[in-house]
Amino acid sequence: MSENILQEYKLQVELIKVKLKEIENKINKLSIEVPEYDLELNDLKRNRNNLNYYIRNLNYSIKWMECCHEPKVFCGIETTKIYEVYLSKILNWGEKLGIDQTLVDTNSKNGLQQLLNKYGSIRAVSRETGVPKSTLQDRMTKYGLQSPYSQQVKGNVIFNDRNPVPDLSDIEDLIDKTIALQCSLDNTQIKQTNLSLEIKDNKPIGIGFWSDWHLGSKGTDHLQWKKDVDTISGIDGFYYLGNGDYCNLSLGTHPGENYDELLQPEQQIAMAEYGFKKTKKQALGLTRGCHPDRIYTSTGTDIIDRFCGISDCANLWHGGEVKLLIGDIEYVIRIRHKAPGESPINTTNAQRKQLETHGEADIVALAHLHYPDIEHKPIMGRSDVVFVRSGTYKIYDEFGQKLNGYRGTYGVPMIVLYPKEKRFVPFRNMDIGIKFLNRERMG
Ligand SMILES: [Zn+2]
Ligand SMILES: [Zn+2]
Repeated sequence: MSENILQEYKLQVELIKVKLKEIENKINKLSIEVPEYDLELNDLKRNRNNLNYYIRNLNYSIKWMECCHEPKVFCGIETTKIYEVYLSKILNWGEKLGIDQTLVDTNSKNGLQQLLNKYGSIRAVSRETGVPKSTLQDRMTKYGLQSPYSQQVKGNVIFNDRNPVPDLSDIEDLIDKTIALQCSLDNTQIKQTNLSLEIKDNKPIGIGFWSDWHLGSKGTDHLQWKKDVDTISGIDGFYYLGNGDYCNLSLGTHPGENYDELLQPEQQIAMAEYGFKKTKKQALGLTRGCHPDRIYTSTGTDIIDRFCGISDCANLWHGGEVKLLIGDIEYVIRIRHKAPGESPINTTNAQRKQLETHGEADIVALAHLHYPDIEHKPIMGRSDVVFVRSGTYKIYDEFGQKLNGYRGTYGVPMIVLYPKEKRFVPFRNMDIGIKFLNRERMG
């Protein structure tokens, strides 16, 4: 199919163009004297529109096949997919345009017999029509049609209906449909590592870096978290990027960690959902973090998709680059839950390494180590770069105590950003930051 499909599509375009010409001629010749002139004209124009739509779809697919990747926008169409176009051609166009009736009907005895005669085997019919082989076999049994497999002989043994070894066109068909499937799968996931957004405001705004809630753990300060949810949900001009570990989700990754759990995963998730629902207006994007990742690694489910759905924001996967436009100024924020290069001596070494690995940014935000940290300094030719580490609500846990009596430190760092000039005022915790922001916004 793949070898032919490009040619087929090009042929379809030519055939449709012929039809279009016919319609154009009819429109030109249509006399106003004809009874029901308006209706007739309307019908012709509608047909012309439909055909133009088909041509745009086909050209989009042709372009895709020729350049080996999906054109982002082609002829104004963004979402048309090769397989949809293929299916709609098979299922509707033949009938609509009278192009190839034999391709149309796999559900009638006659149509199926014609297809079997044309392609020689159920497998080839399945490949060409997109109808599964088992469905075709059922229909053949229903209509009493003969198996089209040719006999295969091995010595004295005659196989009447043995499935033949796949040939090149079968494998090509597999490749084409895998590509089409990948395209459909891509369109059902929302993770992204580059995000561009604009906040329409002519006053300074605050960006909070909020992570490591660890809801449902025995040592988590749920009271502080609930207060922060209430505070954040009510602040004007404040937005946040979530940086992972919203639920504790000790699923037994480390032996004995489950004894730290206060709540079941389901209740932890419900609690996080409450937080995201209440702060929906302020949420820009969420990374996953290592604890929700345990759900992914054990079940393949990305719980962050659900959280992003609730808070109507971007799923930033394990981290990425956020380009944030405020007024006239673009701020580049690089965010990850955790990153290589951590050093207990130089606590922002990992942020610096992010710049080396992924390029310049104005703000680099990390989380995971459960203490808030801010460094504001010139680096790599920029006079102002802010390194951020967000704190946690999980103050006590077995793991930290066992390591060296470590306890988590609370803190939601925030940075006030300005819309007319590139300027940052960072705060290690949002309590003072919010007071400052409110004053700045009052002018
Ligand atoms: Zn954490
Ligand atoms: Zn973590």
